[in-house]
Amino acid sequence: MTEPQITSAPLAPMPEDWQRALAVVAHPDDLEYGCSAAVAAWTDAGRDVTYVLASRGEAGIDTLEPAACGPLREREQRAGAAVVGVGTVEFLGHRDGVIEYGPALRRDIAAAIRRHRPELVVTLNHRDTWGGTVWNTPDHVAVGRATLDAAADAGNRWIFPDLVEQGLEPWNGVRWVAVAGSGNPTHAVDATPGLERAARSLLEHRTYIEALTDQDPESYVRDFLAAHTGAAGERFGGRPAVAFELFGR
Ligand SMILES: [Zn+2]
Repeated sequence: MTEPQITSAPLAPMPEDWQRALAVVAHPDDLEYGCSAAVAAWTDAGRDVTYVLASRGEAGIDTLEPAACGPLREREQRAGAAVVGVGTVEFLGHRDGVIEYGPALRRDIAAAIRRHRPELVVTLNHRDTWGGTVWNTPDHVAVGRATLDAAADAGNRWIFPDLVEQGLEPWNGVRWVAVAGSGNPTHAVDATPGLERAARSLLEHRTYIEALTDQDPESYVRDFLAAHTGAAGERFGGRPAVAFELFGR
C-alpha cells in the first residue's frame, strides 16, 4: 500500500453544518490522545457526540489481567468522555488486540450508526503507519477501515438484513468520515477552547498512563497534547489544532 505524502498545505476548517457525530475507535483513550479537544468544541456548540469503543482495552496494561483491566478501563473511558460533554459511551465487546476486520465488525458499527444516525462519523487512523515509518496497530487499522465501510453499510438495507429485523432502519445520512491521527490530514478544528478539558479527559485514563510512563501524569498529558496540537497548528494559522483526514460521502 502506498502511504500518502506529507505536505505542508494549509488545513481547511472542518464542516460545521451538522448536529450529531458518532466517534468509533478501537480502545479506551484513542479519542483522548488528541481528538477530545475537538469534541469539547463541538459539544460547547450544542452538538451531540456519542462514543463507540470496539473493545474495552483489556489487554492494554501489562500488570493487570484482562478480567480486572476491562471494567477499570471502561470506567476511565466513561469519565474521560464526560469531561468533554459526551454522555453516551457504548462498548461493542470485541477482544482487545485481535480485533478482526470483516463483516462482523462492519455489522456492529453499521448498527451503531443506525442507532445514533450521525451526520459526521469520526474514527482513528486506519492506515498502516502514523506517517513515515511509525507502525500503526492492527486494531486501529481494522476499526478505522470498518468504520469507513460501515458508513455506507448503514445506508444499505440488504447487506445486513438482520439489522432491519431488529428495528434498525437504514441510515444513509452520514456525510463525512473524519479520520484523526492520519499522516495525511486535510481539515482541522481549533483546539484552543477545548485544550484544558482535553488534558483532563486524557488524565482520566490515569491507571493506563501510570503504567505507561514514569513521568508525572499531569506533565505527560500536557506535553503530549501541546506537541500534538502544536504540530497540526503549523498548518492551521499557528493555533493549536486537531487535524483530520476528511472523507466525504
Ligand atoms: Zn488504541
